[in-house]
Amino acid sequence: MKVYICADIEGVAGVVTPQQCQAGNPEYERARVLMTEEVNAAIAGARDAGAEEILVNDAHGPMTNLLPDRLDREAVVIQGKPKRFGMFAGLTAGFDMIFGVGFHAPASGFGVLAHTTSTAAFRSVRVGDALLSEASLYGAYAGELGVPVGMVSGDDACAAHVATVFPEAERVVVKTGLGNRAAAALHPEVAREMIRAGAARALARRAEIRPLALPTSETLTLDFVGAAQADLVATIPVARRLDATRVALPIASAADAVGWVNVASAMAASLR
Ligand SMILES: [Zn+2]
Repeated sequence: MKVYICADIEGVAGVVTPQQCQAGNPEYERARVLMTEEVNAAIAGARDAGAEEILVNDAHGPMTNLLPDRLDREAVVIQGKPKRFGMFAGLTAGFDMIFGVGFHAPASGFGVLAHTTSTAAFRSVRVGDALLSEASLYGAYAGELGVPVGMVSGDDACAAHVATVFPEAERVVVKTGLGNRAAAALHPEVAREMIRAGAARALARRAEIRPLALPTSETLTLDFVGAAQADLVATIPVARRLDATRVALPIASAADAVGWVNVASAMAASLR
């Protein structure tokens, strides 16, 4: 069996502030250790259930957060950016399951450090009327490849969101949000034990866990934090301006949606 692990940081036990998620802060150096160890727990769970091949993708910010020499030596890790298909770069139809570690709730809702791709760019990301999270955006892309998301760890708001998108997936709650930047968290070792068990359970239940099918032959609507960001993204020839902060882009697949979200995020970052 082949398992793909997408690693983010906002949903890791013990992480509650933006400073913990950004290089250059002493708190970040500790948070990336916590992140790396939660990924190790997911790798251990995958191996407990019989996985032979494990690919980890470092998926937060500059995508160079995981400490390679501290990662389980059985896994291969992708780091750095830009990379095609961002958070799910390197995923192919040959994988049996995806685990999301350190995940978080979507922008414009409750949840510890809730955002979608970039806090500085998007107020919300929608396909049709559906509010997308990173989990559902990328989960839908994985669904097009026929690969299910089997386990997601993060806070309680992330779990509540995941329950609506992938009801069959294992949800591991490592902290309960008291706000956007406050949470009651499990001890990191307890969180890791739960992630390891959740990962193994997901693989054992793989026959029941289906790939996500999201109707994506609609319009992708990006609501930007600033009107200048919308001005810039509206210069894409196929873009349609909806109002001061919203731009619509045509998509024929979730893969298209992933591509546009990453292009628009990078463009918006140039106006920070
Ligand atoms: Zn992140």
